[in-house]
Formats: sequence, structure tokens, C-alpha cells
Amino acid sequence: MSARRTVVLLGASGSVGSSVLNLLRKQSDKFCLLGFSVHRNVEMATAIAAEFRPTYCAVSGLGESDFPRHLSLKFLPLCELAAIAEADCVAIAIGGIAALDPLMAAIGAGKCIILANKESIVSAGPIVGDALLKSKATLLPADSEHCGIFQCMRGDGGFRGLFRRTETVRHVWLTASGGPFFDAEGDRLNDVKPAEALRHPTWSMGAKISVDSATLANKGLEVIEAGFLYGLSPEEISVVIHRRSLVHALVEFCDGSLLAQMSQASMEIPLSYCLSYPDRAAAPEKAFNPVDSGPLEFQYPNRKSFPCLALAESAFRNGLSATCAFDGANCAAVEAFMREEVPFGAIPMAIGHVLHNLPPQRLSDIESAKECHCEAKRKAAEFLGRRFSI
Ligand code: NAD
Ligand code: MG
Repeated sequence: MSARRTVVLLGASGSVGSSVLNLLRKQSDKFCLLGFSVHRNVEMATAIAAEFRPTYCAVSGLGESDFPRHLSLKFLPLCELAAIAEADCVAIAIGGIAALDPLMAAIGAGKCIILANKESIVSAGPIVGDALLKSKATLLPADSEHCGIFQCMRGDGGFRGLFRRTETVRHVWLTASGGPFFDAEGDRLNDVKPAEALRHPTWSMGAKISVDSATLANKGLEVIEAGFLYGLSPEEISVVIHRRSLVHALVEFCDGSLLAQMSQASMEIPLSYCLSYPDRAAAPEKAFNPVDSGPLEFQYPNRKSFPCLALAESAFRNGLSATCAFDGANCAAVEAFMREEVPFGAIPMAIGHVLHNLPPQRLSDIESAKECHCEAKRKAAEFLGRRFSI
């Protein structure tokens, strides 16, 4: 039997983290957990340590002393764990821009990286791309649409890797479920509560990305993510609503062929693809039966009811400091909405305000991207505080 691949999982206590752990459980003959990170969830860390017996742990939001002694884990700083020599593969399932430093550390160490996090690419994509092209690291996008694009492009001889223009690709279509408020009319969206926004129709996910799916900001982030990862211009990417979440991405090639990636809506499928890359692991789950699934329908999104999508597209046309600001402003606005301080409709208002008031700047390194993100968050919070008397 060949040696098992060692996996470091950052963000193990989250929704994507749980899907990765499920895969490690199912494929324990192929993979073992070498180390993991949590932010504050001691209970989950204790359960993971007991079940998977990893060697290393990183805790970003608490101290080592908050953990039971008997766990016999070696505690490391997050970026050290991301770059650890013994790891064959580093899966990044941390939410938000906190993933940026460990991502850069893993790239610097030449790791095979499975990236679920999208905020890091939206806030610093070209900087991440430059570092990646100079290193021996491999980046595998695990966001389902981007993994779908990757699979379609890899099937084509013209694909030479991420962050490079692929000449044979003409257009990419990203599908969106439309979220829980797809049918909502006019003013109804003003009154929705966080609990309603969290009820996603087809995917089960963490809180922030669920709200982003409800505003369509998630699809906006994904347009930018796809643009940076695959060297596509805003005009070369379209978003379509596909309520069933069975088709994840379509790629049109220069000869008029359109390849689609389809599967059931489960993050375990793209994550398993990345874990086993360049092979495919056998799984008991069946793909869907195209007859039983019923019609596969597509329609254009309603940009008027869901302005976050158009705001993201406009940020993408304006370059990296605008996409970074989009992410920072969205982040602050979603946090305020989740605390029930501002209404749902305040999210696009705050993003629009920040994009309008933050002058474009050249972001040439990770530090300048983090500063721009922080400034956008601050400006969004200040705007919301004034507008809604928080
Ligand atoms: P989640 O909220 O369920 O989990 C987030 C994880 O990040 C947790 O383990 C948490 O401990 C960790 N974390 C939070 N703040 C941190 C900090 N400051 N420092 C270090 N760690 C921190 O989120 P999720 O739904 O699992 O999403 C994670 C990422 O994957 C996001 O970028 C999301 O957009 C992306 N993604 C998620 C899905 C999905 O189905 N959930 C699909 C595609 C992409
Ligand atoms: Mg996605």
C-alpha cells in the first residue's frame, strides 16, 4: 500500500472544514490529517483531535492554555502550520481575508493548496497569482463553480494553468441558485431577517456565505474570483440563475463547443476532486439522472433587485483596489446585518458608498491589500453608523 497523503486543514471547524473532514473519514486509506486550525471552537478542536489524532494544531483566536492538556497536540502559529514541511497538501477553508496570510505562506513553501476561500482572491488575486507563478506551489480552486471551470478547462489542451490567459476559452458562464429571496418582490427585501437569509435553498454553508448568496454578492465575488484565477475580462464572464444547482459552470471554447460541469450540490464533490487531483477518487454517491432531474433551466439574474452583483462587476472593471474594497465593505455590512443593526438593503448601499468614495490605488503587495480592505471596512461601518444611527 502506498503512503497516505498528509493533509493540513485550516478552518476545520467551519462548513467547508466539516466537508473535508468527512472526506478524510471516508478515504482514510488515502489521506491522514497532519494538522488543523480553528479560530475559537475548543469543543470541535477537541473532537477532531480525538478522532483523527493529528500532530499539529493552530488556534488563531484563543491561547494554547484554553485547550485541555490531554490532547497532546503541538501548537503552531497559523502561517507556520500552512507552510509545514511534512504536509503534502494544505486545504484552506478559513472564511474572509484571514485566509490571505496562510495562503501566501503555503505558496511560499511550494505546497499543493486546495483553496475554498474566495475573499483572498477577490482582495489580492493578482498578487497571489504573481507569487504562485514564482513558486513551486499548485493551487486547486475548490469553490464549486471554479472547480467546475477548472475541470472543463483542464479537459482542453489549451489550458496552461491558473492566472494565465487561456487563448482557446471564449466565455465562462457561472450559475447561481438565486438564493432564498429569488422571487421576492420590491419592498419585501427590506424586511428580511438574518434567519431567513441563512435558509439557502440548495447548499448548506457557513453564515457569511449564506447571506452573500441571498444578496447575490457571493456571485459577484465569484465573477471576480473567476476573472483573476482564469485571466478573464468582465465581458468574458456571465452569470445565470439555475435554481437546481446541478450545473455549476459552463465554458465556451473558440470552436463553438460548450463544456459544462454538473453534479449534485455537495461541496464534497469539488473538494474530493482537489484532494485526489490529478486522479479521481471513487465515491458511492451517484451523479444525477438527467431524465429524473427534470428540465435544466437558466435565466438572467434580476440586477435591480440584487444590486450587489452589478456592484461587483463594476468593481472588477475598475481593478484590484475596487474589488478589495468591495470585499471589505461587504464584510462590514454583512456583520452589521447579522447583528440586526441594519436592514438587508443596507448591504448594497454600504458597498456602493465605499466604491464611490475610495479613490483607486495601486496594490502591489499583501500589506497594501490588507490596508485597503481595512479602510473599506472602516468606511462602510462609518457610513452604516451614520445612516442607521447605530
Ligand atoms: P464557516 O463560517 O462555516 O467557517 C469559517 C472557518 O474559518 C471556521 O473554521 C473558523 O474557525 C475560521 N475562521 C474564521 N475567522 C477566522 C480568523 N480570523 N482567523 C482564522 N480562522 C478563522 O465558513 P464556510 O462556509 O466553511 O466558508 C469558508 C470559506 O470557503 C469562505 O471563504 C467561503 O466563501 C468559501 N466557500 C464556502 C462554501 C460552502 O459551501 N460553505 C462553498 C464555496 C466556498
Ligand atoms: Mg461557489
